[in-house]
Amino acid sequence: KHNFWSLLNWGNHSWVWRHMLKLRDLARTHLVYDCGRGEQFSLWYDPWFHGNSIHAWYGHWVIYDARMNGTEKVKEVIINGRWSWPQTLWQLIEIQQRVQDIPASSQPDYIVPWCNLVWFSKRIPKHSFCLWLTIRRAHKTKDKLLNWGLISSARCVFHCGGSENMDHLFFECPSTRDIRRDALRRCNIYRNIGTSYPGWRKCSGWRYMPEDNFPAVLMRLALGATVYHIWLERNM
Ligand SMILES: [Zn+2]
Repeated sequence: KHNFWSLLNWGNHSWVWRHMLKLRDLARTHLVYDCGRGEQFSLWYDPWFHGNSIHAWYGHWVIYDARMNGTEKVKEVIINGRWSWPQTLWQLIEIQQRVQDIPASSQPDYIVPWCNLVWFSKRIPKHSFCLWLTIRRAHKTKDKLLNWGLISSARCVFHCGGSENMDHLFFECPSTRDIRRDALRRCNIYRNIGTSYPGWRKCSGWRYMPEDNFPAVLMRLALGATVYHIWLERNM
């Protein structure tokens, strides 16, 4: 059974998928794994171990030598908040020594609060990607460009008289207010939920609804589409 990190580059993949697989080495260097009880990621295939996966470091046999089948999560080797690898083979003894500088705990794994908001099964990928950049405050908005000395004014492109930054552009700018209000109305929400991303987030608890809850799906889609189209319009 394969995992995104262990799939081979060649085979019957689409062009896009093949290129995404080729970018894994680059992506890996930007990932931060924060290990709690280790319930969320693959023991063998996720690159949580000194920048790579156990599978990449030690190969396939180590899985069988540990008497496991490859589907285990990291929690299998954490007991009472301490690393506890089986000690049946020198590779496993070495792994037990090398993991000591990785903090493990008995706390639940930390999941960013916006995870379900951005990444859910019915998402529109380009919207989700744009929303992810928005929540990570990664768009190159004018306040940043001004700081870097690349432009001389951060004036909002929608002629509202304000300065462009993440909060202004997506949630505060009066010129994009109609888009936000319209999107909410289409989700049957007529009250004012504030001019910020947390305002959307708190709205009727939809963030906590099951992933297949239809109103919650619509709300998530509406937020993603709104943010995406504002960013698109801003770049026209
Ligand atoms: Zn504005």
